[in-house]
Order: sequence, then structure tokens, then C-alpha cells
Amino acid sequence: MENNTVVKVHYHGYFADTKEVFDSSLSEGREPLTFLVGHGQMIPGFEAEVLGAEVGEKRTFTLEPERAYGHRDENQFADLPFADFPEGIEVGMNFQAEMSGRPIMFTITSIDEEAGNVTCDANHPMAGKTLTFDVEIVSVRDASEEEIAHKHVHGDGGHHH
Ligand code: ZN
Repeated sequence: MENNTVVKVHYHGYFADTKEVFDSSLSEGREPLTFLVGHGQMIPGFEAEVLGAEVGEKRTFTLEPERAYGHRDENQFADLPFADFPEGIEVGMNFQAEMSGRPIMFTITSIDEEAGNVTCDANHPMAGKTLTFDVEIVSVRDASEEEIAHKHVHGDGGHHH
């Protein structure tokens, strides 16, 4: 596989330290992951590590945060008014908000109802984690000109439009 090919992979992702699985295309009912190589669809290290692999090839690699979801930033915490949230919020819930026109995912880390304050963490939930992937290349095909222009996959496993 090279840039501007459409690749299907099965993958099994787990935290390097705890071995806890965070995502797997081998879970029941899941399809292989399909992506267009070379257009930033994947975290940076993932593509780099499977580049050049042949169909049927299996690779295992570990990505430090800088090649995965980045490091945690302790300035990414924000206190928001309790009144702005819907009823029944709990610690650990995720909310999406818009910040400078970009969607940001928040995780609630603490709730102080009396002070009217909700503390939220806007770090990516995978930030700061070192991730190990077992990957198997299922198929590779050339991308169409249209797919390259759109920077995503069309048809099976991709966009239908
Ligand atoms: Zn398209």
C-alpha cells in the first residue's frame, strides 16, 4: 500500500501499558476499517507504520502520544456554568461544543451543583496514551481521481454520495 490507495485493514488496538483493548475491528459485527492513504484520515503513526505492507501482511507497532493523539494539555480544562447543561449530567459524560467554529468534545470531570460549576476536560480521551496496534492488511486498491479530490473513500466502507 502507498499514498493514494484505498486500504482495508483489520486492527486490534490496546493500551501499551495495561494491554486493555480500546478498539478492535475484530469485535462482533464489525467490518474492516477502510481508509484513503496519505490524506490525514488516520492518526499519523498508523499510516507510517503500515506503509509498504502487502495484502495479508500483519504488523504490530506501538505509537507514543506524539504519533497518536498527542499529549494531554492541562490548560484544556474549563469551568462551565452548571445551568448550561441538561438535567441528569454525571461525571464521565461527553458533550460536544463549538469553539472557534470547530467542534470540541468535552468530558465532565467534576460537578459542583451548589457552586453552579461543572469542570470539563477538552483533551482528546486518547491524549497522552501510548497505543499498540495489531494490524492485518485485508485489501488494497488504487483510489479513483474523485476519491483523491474528495480526500475520502467512496463506495464500500466509505462515503455514498
Ligand atoms: Zn466524496
